[in-house]
Amino acid sequence: MVTYLDHAATTPVRPAAIETMVAQMRDGYGNPSGAHRMARAANRTLDEARQSMADALGGRPGEVVFTSGGTESDNLAVLGTLELRGGTAVCSAIEHHAVLDVVEQSGGRIVGVGARGQIDLDQLEATLDHDVSLVSVMLANNETGVVQPLAEVAEVVRRNAPNAVLHTDAVQAFPWLDVATLAQPADLVTVSAHKFGGPQGVGALLVREGVAIAARQRGGGQERERRSGTQNVAGIAAMATAATEMTNHRPAEAERIAALRDRLVDGLRRNVGGAFESGVDLPGEHPASIADRSHKTPNVAHLCFEGIESEALLFLLEKVDIMASAAASCSSGAMEPSHVLAAMGYSRDLAFGSLRLSLGYPTTAADIDRALDVIPDAVERLRAAV
Ligand code: PLP
Repeated sequence: MVTYLDHAATTPVRPAAIETMVAQMRDGYGNPSGAHRMARAANRTLDEARQSMADALGGRPGEVVFTSGGTESDNLAVLGTLELRGGTAVCSAIEHHAVLDVVEQSGGRIVGVGARGQIDLDQLEATLDHDVSLVSVMLANNETGVVQPLAEVAEVVRRNAPNAVLHTDAVQAFPWLDVATLAQPADLVTVSAHKFGGPQGVGALLVREGVAIAARQRGGGQERERRSGTQNVAGIAAMATAATEMTNHRPAEAERIAALRDRLVDGLRRNVGGAFESGVDLPGEHPASIADRSHKTPNVAHLCFEGIESEALLFLLEKVDIMASAAASCSSGAMEPSHVLAAMGYSRDLAFGSLRLSLGYPTTAADIDRALDVIPDAVERLRAAV
């Protein structure tokens, strides 16, 4: 049996969302932009999904723009703002590449983070001026699960760059945190369905009333001219089903998963020497005696193990059917350590030994037992082999 601990990469589609999707594809295949009865029915499906997503995100239905996922929503937020308003974009150094690369390529400015993985508010303040038209700071990081202080970010932005639009990538936060409340200070909010039990390839950008963006995709004028192209009606309907189910169960699930995550990380910290938990243990110092995870999402166990390479560890884990991930990326043949860990001050060597075990709504106590059974031995085997 597979032990799936990679829910931050993608989590299984919820059975209710699969039912919605199949029924929509089978019975509701009209084009929502058309005029006849079947087209109008598909359009009503979109209206209902828009309402559900608005409820879950703390916005209004007209503010929801359906997209093909987190990457498109992030690109649309940054580039759609820059095209319309000009000026300079600013983002944190730990953003997902869907924001970071776009801001860097536009000649924007990057703000560092502290050793606990949260944005440096003083540096943000020093970086802002009247030329800044967009600030993008994610609500929770995809590698470490560290939650960013968005309310404080918003205050600094309003004071120092009053003309700027604030975007938050809430892709990783949405399955676990009350995004409807936490993202209130943001003008633009990104979410992606496959992180909370909807299908891959569907997402949304919340564009608050009164905030204008230029479309990136132009054509038929769908989504109120903000994103042309026939909508993925079945995927969107399934995303809405998943969002409703997820938000209904979120407080209880977050509590259950936090307890499992704590047991997992505490066990690994206890049983493996030289294990550093990101956001909790400060880089370059001994592991902390008390683990404060109050600033992390409940689902992420992220550690760096001294003296191993995560690629080798992931290989051993996969051989025994444990699916996990590391944050290093392999581009043009050369392994690069995670930009997130680098920004937090982790050395290259330690960053190369990173492991992300991410839990999700289907995770059970047995999954945690199995990971605790296997991982300490696997790390020791790799260390002994050097
Ligand atoms: N933003 C964050 C924080 C993510 O974790 C991801 C996916 O890993 C994305 C954006 C991209 O989302 P998608 O896979 O839907 O394009």
